[in-house]
Amino acid sequence: METASSAVIVAIDGPSGTGKSSTSKAVAAKLGLSYLDTGAQYRAITWWMLNNGIDVTSPAEIATAAAKPVIISGTDPTGPTITVDGEDASGPIRTQEVTSKVSAVSAVPEVRTIITELQRSIAAGAEGGIVVEGRDIGTTVLPDADLKIFLTASPEARAARRSGEVKGSDLAATREALIKRDAADSGRKTSPLAKADDAVEVDTTELTLQQVIECVVTLVEEKRTAA
Ligand code: C5P
Repeated sequence: METASSAVIVAIDGPSGTGKSSTSKAVAAKLGLSYLDTGAQYRAITWWMLNNGIDVTSPAEIATAAAKPVIISGTDPTGPTITVDGEDASGPIRTQEVTSKVSAVSAVPEVRTIITELQRSIAAGAEGGIVVEGRDIGTTVLPDADLKIFLTASPEARAARRSGEVKGSDLAATREALIKRDAADSGRKTSPLAKADDAVEVDTTELTLQQVIECVVTLVEEKRTAA
């Protein structure tokens, strides 16, 4: 991908609970790159829809409203931010309500077109390079990324990690919700969750976060040396 001199574009995709966010932030911070959480953008548009009386079971209503919210992502990996119409959305986008509705909103093609354009412009403007995490970054958003990683883990490991993050959550319920969301994200027509043919797959089930970070940092450094 064409960017400023030594800028490197890293795409990290995979289902929920594989350690994408923690890994992406740490790798970006370690290598002095920007960081973009694309899931936060889909959560932000979902939050706006819920706050503005949009029926999120209606793809037509979602499509009509999709261009209205102004979503701005701050790309510092040590303190990423997200605002919607100027309001800090970083807390409210993590609620159970948003998590349970986001797959329906993100499946609407008009939503994906708008958010994809936003993601491409952020990546193009990241002068020192960027780590972009999501579901369709390597396949659709940035198909020319310098390095593509696809993180996986067993459903058990993913559910255990997620319920560890959310206080008082039930492991079985977390596992069920996570499997349901992954099925919706993988099964949608427009840019589903998928591994790009040229992505490096890393199974994180038996790895510590530190090991995953080291593995990805090594892969980025190898790419930079080869370039
Ligand atoms: O990564 P996170 O769990 O915050 O993502 C929330 C949701 O956003 C996903 O379940 C998916 O529906 C959507 N998403 C997407 N494409 C991306 C990133 C996230 O559809 N690139």
